[in-house]
Amino acid sequence: MKILVTGGAGYIGSHVVKALGEKKYDVAVYDNLSSGNRWALLYGELFEGDLSDIKRLETVIESFKPHAVMHFAASIVVNESVINPLKYYNNNTSNTINLLNAMIKHKVNTFVFSSTAAVYGIPDKIPVTEDDPMLPINPYGSSKMMNEIILRDLSNANSDFRYISLRYFNVAGADNECRIGQAYKDPTHLITRALKTAIGQFSKMQIYGTDYNTPDGTCIRDYIHVDDLSNAHILALQYLFDGGQNNIFNCGYSCGYSVKDVIDRVKKVTKKDFSVEEVLRRQGDPPLLVADSSKIRRVLGWNPQFDELEIIIESAWRWEQKLKKLFNE
Ligand code: UDP
Repeated sequence: MKILVTGGAGYIGSHVVKALGEKKYDVAVYDNLSSGNRWALLYGELFEGDLSDIKRLETVIESFKPHAVMHFAASIVVNESVINPLKYYNNNTSNTINLLNAMIKHKVNTFVFSSTAAVYGIPDKIPVTEDDPMLPINPYGSSKMMNEIILRDLSNANSDFRYISLRYFNVAGADNECRIGQAYKDPTHLITRALKTAIGQFSKMQIYGTDYNTPDGTCIRDYIHVDDLSNAHILALQYLFDGGQNNIFNCGYSCGYSVKDVIDRVKKVTKKDFSVEEVLRRQGDPPLLVADSSKIRRVLGWNPQFDELEIIIESAWRWEQKLKKLFNE
């Protein structure tokens, strides 16, 4: 089967491309390389292009003739989305409409969508289930929620079109063979910031807010290893190819760690002490986000292999050390 992966040269996309390649899917990647990298593609052909370039997109779909599309290409920085919302509605919402239009035109009816726990906003109860309401508190979450609504309406109008939305919690870690990993130009995510501080790339790191209503006052998140998340994509795709219906799944381990917990574990794994400064809250951060992941385990048979924070940090640490050597970052 042929799978077109948008954003396949990016962090999560490239790990899913690896998993698809290992399962012998025929992969093509559509990526504008704005945050992705050519070297991150372990399988498949790269078609450089932007999702706003409808002509290019259609040419690629016409020539590759995918059986399904997996859509990762998106802007993902919560704080940036608060400052520059239109970038998020353009890149995440309008561009998804372009992609769906092109798919429908060329009768590609199977879709796996990268959604996010940010669609929940500040949930009333934790762990949060897929049936809880979508009430995002930042434009990033809103842009993804809009896509989920569009997918729901499109599949209601067109019964041939089937999709799965995977709502990612906090994705981290790297390929166990250390071939690929996160390589953003300006990384903002907690584990990456902490590791880059441990390695000496930053002189200190900051904790954004210690006055949340959580046991230690810092935000709590559910961290998931990128390879377990990749496997969830493969299961979702197989489920759709086997005739499964539209569905939405949380992707997390149902286990929450505070910002302070994460920093302590990073210090333990790396055996490095580093300066940590406590500063004001960052805009758009919900205090507590932990997945109820029983549905994906039950329906798709998802069985995570790396569900330990230390395993995630260890793999990301090996990757950061390699990156530093490779690029002298
Ligand atoms: N965070 C922090 N310092 C950093 C980066 C992140 O205190 O340098 C906090 C952030 O405020 C949030 C949590 O760590 O509470 C996870 O943030 P991240 O950006 O990794 O993921 P998000 O949950 O925003 O998708």
